[in-house]
Amino acid sequence: ATPATTGTTATVHDVAPVLPVVGADTLVPLVDGRRVPYANLDVAASAPALQAVADRVTQVLPLYASVHRGAGYLSQVSTALYEQARRTIGTFVGAREEHLTLVTRNTTDSLNLLAGCVPVDQATGARGRVLVLDIEHHANLLPWQRVTDATVVTGGHTVAATCEEIADELAAGLAEGRPYALVALTGASNVTGESLPVADVVALAHDAGARVVLDGAQLVPHRRFSLAATGVDYVAFSGHKTYAPFGAGALVGRRDWLDAGTPYLAGGGAVRRVRATTTDWHEGPARHEAGSPNVLGAVALAAACDELAALDTTVAREHEDALRRRLVDGLGALDRVEVVHVWDDAVDPVGVVTFTVTGYDPGLVAAYLSAEHGIGVRDGRFCAHPLLGRLGFDAGAVRASVGLGTAGEEVERLVAAVGALVCDGP
Ligand code: PLP
Repeated sequence: ATPATTGTTATVHDVAPVLPVVGADTLVPLVDGRRVPYANLDVAASAPALQAVADRVTQVLPLYASVHRGAGYLSQVSTALYEQARRTIGTFVGAREEHLTLVTRNTTDSLNLLAGCVPVDQATGARGRVLVLDIEHHANLLPWQRVTDATVVTGGHTVAATCEEIADELAAGLAEGRPYALVALTGASNVTGESLPVADVVALAHDAGARVVLDGAQLVPHRRFSLAATGVDYVAFSGHKTYAPFGAGALVGRRDWLDAGTPYLAGGGAVRRVRATTTDWHEGPARHEAGSPNVLGAVALAAACDELAALDTTVAREHEDALRRRLVDGLGALDRVEVVHVWDDAVDPVGVVTFTVTGYDPGLVAAYLSAEHGIGVRDGRFCAHPLLGRLGFDAGAVRASVGLGTAGEEVERLVAAVGALVCDGP
């Protein structure tokens, strides 16, 4: 089944990017020797940096010095920049007083860090149970599978059925005397852009005494998310998907588990005092941030957060919705093209659209789009093997994704290119 398509959505040739991004004028070579503007429809993998982020990095680069421990003027400036960036990032996702903001490498890093902090039951020595859906990116599945007692729930065909599955499993945990400690939930699927009603899942989890961590990799860059407003306990996200460069991400959430957890990395900066055989670890962010931190990465991510916070959310949403609708309807109306979805009643998906073309290997479709049309998409199983397997796409699929820097014309190029493929194809 595919999401309802009419195939009649108005074209989006005239839809302009919402904000300028770097590299928008890149030309790429085609097999026939022509060079054409690159259509980056792989924003869900890595979003091009906002121009404002690049400007901020250029401005701060000369101020680069060691943080926290240096007494020199530039060390003090760098430390202030780093700590301000931390506050900006936390504020952007609605951190409350009792929350910590840790600067990590990316979402994967953040979730691995949190997995190591899920409390261990003193009596059994087992780490708390974690409930995960099979729709998750591997980054929000494998950390739990590795260090905790994770149960993977297969959702239903509707949002309501999936929420019911979660409620039933949480209730079963309570009834067995093995309650869940945590529900690990995606904010938006990296395969379909769909999501569950986060506040509803939080209510279910909290009723059962469990906390919620949101994998915000695909949600935070595209929707205004707030820990305070949703009651979510932890959120993880990546700078390189939030219109900043690679290398910095964040974990923001309740401080008690983080302060009590084993330090993520052992090394300088995480300690109060070290003796030959014992170490007194810091609490707070420093506990998990041993080593020289990624100051520029944090500043860049904070600059992106500032830009997104200042954006008119209606304008951003209408832009993304128009592009997504056109992708779903334009592709879905083509013969032999199937648009992938999880739930029949999903609401408010972000701009990620995955499809297959009958008769073509997804890798071939992606290679054709790149070599003959200069369009960048992703193919494969998107680090979401359980979901692709459940939906019957074990051979993979093709994913197009859009963001603030995407022009409607790029989406039209994709729809036309896939149209040409199915017309001319075998
Ligand atoms: N979660 C989701 C939903 C993702 O889409 C991704 C990356 O594609 C990740 C987690 C992992 O992000 P990163 O590779 O930045 O750690």
